[in-house]
Amino acid sequence: MTSIEKQVALRSLPAVGHLLEFPQTLSVFADYPLALVTRFLGEAVAELREMWDRDPAPGDDAWAQMVLPESIIQRAHRILNVYLSPHLRPVLNLTGTVIHTNLGRAPLSERALQAVHDVASQYSNLEYDLTPGKRGSRHDHVAKRLCALTGAEAALVVNNNAAAVLLALRSLAQGGEAVVSRGQLVEIGGSFRIPDIMVQAGVLLKEVGTTNKTHLRDYQQAIGENTRLILKVHTSNYRIVGFVHQPPLADLVELARQRQVPLFEDLGSGALFDFPDFGVGDEPTVSNSIRAGVDLVSFSGDKLLGGAQAGILLGKQDVVAKLRSHPWMRALRVDKMTLAALEATLVAYADSDMARKEVPVVRMITASYEEMTKQAAVLEKAIAADEVLAKVLDVEQVDAVSRIGGGALPLTELPTRCLRLQAKGLTAQQFSDQLRHVPQVPVITRIAHDAVLCDPRTLLPGQEGLMLDSLRQWAQELTV
Ligand SMILES: *Cc1c(COP(=O)(O)O)cnc(C)c1O
Repeated sequence: MTSIEKQVALRSLPAVGHLLEFPQTLSVFADYPLALVTRFLGEAVAELREMWDRDPAPGDDAWAQMVLPESIIQRAHRILNVYLSPHLRPVLNLTGTVIHTNLGRAPLSERALQAVHDVASQYSNLEYDLTPGKRGSRHDHVAKRLCALTGAEAALVVNNNAAAVLLALRSLAQGGEAVVSRGQLVEIGGSFRIPDIMVQAGVLLKEVGTTNKTHLRDYQQAIGENTRLILKVHTSNYRIVGFVHQPPLADLVELARQRQVPLFEDLGSGALFDFPDFGVGDEPTVSNSIRAGVDLVSFSGDKLLGGAQAGILLGKQDVVAKLRSHPWMRALRVDKMTLAALEATLVAYADSDMARKEVPVVRMITASYEEMTKQAAVLEKAIAADEVLAKVLDVEQVDAVSRIGGGALPLTELPTRCLRLQAKGLTAQQFSDQLRHVPQVPVITRIAHDAVLCDPRTLLPGQEGLMLDSLRQWAQELTV
C-alpha cells in the first residue's frame, strides 16, 4: 500500500472532537470528567492507528466496523475499565499454603477489616489521648493488649519483623558485638540475611559454635567487653536434624543475666495461639519466651498471628524504651490501618475457640482432614453438576498435604483432601497457566503428578461460588 492509500484509510478514523458530540459518548461516560473522556477516546483512536500500522490491510469489513463511532466509543469504554481496575487485586488461593507470601500472607479477620474501615474512613485518636485531651502516642493502642496476652512488660509495633530486628540490633548493640550461634545465621527470602542485617545495623557479628552444635560454653567464651547483645534467631524456614544441640532457652536467659547482656530472640512467626495443643507442629508460643525471661522478642504480624504486616517487639520495660526512643523509630513506625487491624486481630486471642473462629490463618491451619473431605466433596459435586464444566473437566478427590508456609513450621504437614482436576486436551501446566489468567478472579493452583490440585484449605468461607465462577469463565473462554 502506498503512503497515500494509507492516509486515505486512516482518514476514515473520526476525530476525537467529533466523537465527543455523539449521544452515546454522553450516556456511556456520563459520570466522568471531560478531560478523562477525551483522553480515553484519544487512546482508542491511537490504538486503531497502531493496529493499522502493524497490519496495513485488515479485512475491509472488519476495518469498516472498527472505525464506526459506536465501536470506538466501546473501545474507549474498555480502556476506561482497565484504567479503573486496580492492578493489585484478589486471587483465589487453592495452593493449600496458608501463609503464602506471594499471595499477601494473612487474609484479615472480619473484625480487623471493620476496624480498618472505621479508622481509615474517619478521623481517629491515633496520636491523641482523649482523657486529658492532649497529644498521645500511636504505640499505646495495642501495647496493653499485647502485654496482657503474653505477659510482657512493654510492647512496640513497627513496619515488619525485618524492621523490628534491625531496630533492636541498632538500638541495643550498635558499635559493639552481638553473639549468634552458627546454626542460626538465617536467610529469610532474598535480602534478609542475619549477617547482612548485622552490617546494616552497625553491629559486629560474633559467631559461636558450629552449624549443627552450639553449647552454652561457646556463648560463655564468646562474651567479652564489647558484647552488647546475645541474639537467638528462630530457624523458621529450615531445620537442622540429627547430631544437633542448642542450649535450652532458660540457660541462655541465665547467662544473659549473669553477664548483664540483654538476650534478644527473633521468633520469626511468633504464635499467640497454642498450635501444638491442637496437634499441629511444635512452635512454642510467644509467652513461652517471655515467661522464660528473654529481654526482648520480635515476630511478624502477618505470619502465624494472622494479622496485618507488622513487626511486634515485646519485652522488658527498659529495653523496649530504648527502641522506642531511637531516631529510627519514626522511619519504621506503622500506619493507623495496621494498628487497627492488629488490635482487632488480637481481640480474638483472648480465647482459643474465638481465635479459631475469627482469625482465618488460625482456622485454616487447625482445620481437620475431615472438614477438608467434606469441602472437597461439596466442590466436586458442584463441578460435576455443572453442564459446561462436566464436559471439559475430569474431577476426582485425592489425599494430599497442605503447608503452613511463610517460612513457618517447614516440616509440618497438614493432611488434606484435594480436587484433582484434568482439563481435556490440556497439560496440567497449560491448564494451571490458563486458570491464572481468568479475568474476574485468577485462580492459583499447584501441580502434582501431572494434574492440577485444588486444596480447599485455603479457600475462604464464601469463595466456593467464586471458584466455580472462575472455572466457568475459563471453560467459556475455551469453548467460544
Ligand atoms: C519472617 C521472618 C523475618 C522477617 O519478617 P517480616 O515480617 O517478613 O519482615 C525475620 N526473621 C525470621 C526468623 C523470620 O522467620
